[in-house]
Amino acid sequence: MKKYIVRLLIVLTLIVVTTLVFPEILFLSAFGQKIAMKVEGDQVAQFYFKKSQSLKDTLYVKGVIYSNTLNDIQDVLDKNPQVTTLAMEEVAGSIDDEINLVASQEIRKRKINTYIPKGGMVASGGTDMFLAGVERNAHHTAKLGVHSWSGGDQVALDFPADQEEHKKYLDYYVEMQIPTDFYWYALKAASADDIHWMTPEEITTYNVFTPQTPELLTLQEKLASDEFGGRGTGNNRKAQKLIKSFFESIALEKFENTFDHSFEFSDEMTLESRNGTNIMGYVKGKSHSDKYIVVGAHYDHLGIIDGIIFNGADDNASGTAALLMLARHFSKNQPEHSIIFAAFDAEELGLHGSKYFVEHPPVPLEDIKLNFNFDMISRNPKNEIYVVGTKPYPVFRPLVEALAKTSRLKVSFGHDDPNDTSKDYWMFSSDNGPFHEKGIPNITFSEEDHPDYHKSTDDIENTDPEFFQNVVELIQSIIDKIDKEFPNKS
Ligand SMILES: [Zn+2]
Repeated sequence: MKKYIVRLLIVLTLIVVTTLVFPEILFLSAFGQKIAMKVEGDQVAQFYFKKSQSLKDTLYVKGVIYSNTLNDIQDVLDKNPQVTTLAMEEVAGSIDDEINLVASQEIRKRKINTYIPKGGMVASGGTDMFLAGVERNAHHTAKLGVHSWSGGDQVALDFPADQEEHKKYLDYYVEMQIPTDFYWYALKAASADDIHWMTPEEITTYNVFTPQTPELLTLQEKLASDEFGGRGTGNNRKAQKLIKSFFESIALEKFENTFDHSFEFSDEMTLESRNGTNIMGYVKGKSHSDKYIVVGAHYDHLGIIDGIIFNGADDNASGTAALLMLARHFSKNQPEHSIIFAAFDAEELGLHGSKYFVEHPPVPLEDIKLNFNFDMISRNPKNEIYVVGTKPYPVFRPLVEALAKTSRLKVSFGHDDPNDTSKDYWMFSSDNGPFHEKGIPNITFSEEDHPDYHKSTDDIENTDPEFFQNVVELIQSIIDKIDKEFPNKS
């Protein structure tokens, strides 16, 4: 307790009541006042938002956890129910472990995630608090430290394993679903006055970070969230922004200095003139940079009808997310041919984005050797995906077949023969249609329609992440192979 009072006095002397000293940080102090504070080594834990935050869904913390931390957390979270993540910038430990464990339980109870930002450092009692996050992540530069504790002149390992002193920690880890081995490992890792920085292997062993949702799924979920309003043409700016900033982040090349390529079309229902926007960029090929493969998917869906959002998680947030992941793959692994990545708009209103593309191609049409199209690829109860287009363009079939054999999916061919009356003919039902009309070989990946097709229930919950990931893996292997071993017409 004495030690705590001394620390508090030090902290009080450190408080500088001026926002001018540290203008970007607005501290919510332990004393319920807004004060600015210069960041020093051993200050007590302060919770704050950054002025640059627009959403204020991430709450920051810096400093040592102490007797008032539980009150502070309850207070700040009560006032800010929008908070989903606690970002621990620098939390070196706790000077009140009893309070720390209860405060941490409060974090878990409120289903808050924890995160250690770039250059962040969390150790000792701070590590215990970090483990309270429902989802726990960190920037790759972050450090996580563990060590033993001491009481009086005894150290933790002097107490028998079944002693009460250990129990509160062990109970805590059980509650947080952290293997209790973690506790004994930490005690041995470093003495109480030293610190051990966890290795990536140790972090994995003790479930310190929660498993990452692959980005493919995160992107699909985002595109299919209510926030994106069903991506109806004319009202799908958010989706455009996401696709553009993704293209920007992987440094795709632009046509005419922009990713946006807007067009006008006539609405078949109202006959009114409307606008759509294709978002596209490309990766320059290594050996055949003047020959192009177009990888496309429509990002628009039905939008909001009678106040109900049609999220189109499968149709076609799935194809759009796949398009982005493939763009990244090829921006990292330069292809032989140049590859254009095109997110088409206004598909649902009559394939207008792809029609515009082939009428106003960014490169000569005769240099486009192949088009890949993805439309609805994230669910099928029979684990079956259709590859459409090898009937009119049989030269690609052996290559696709060879890779299909290695897939965990049931890969079927069909929907591309106008004489096969047992199946719908899909050569003109998605963005492959305009390419097919121009005689450009094209391959579409799609599953059979499902009960939620073009219904407001085409939601992320009804998709199948495993199936989706397998489809994208198959698609990537097929494009990789065709790009390398482009078959000549037989
Ligand atoms: Zn579609």
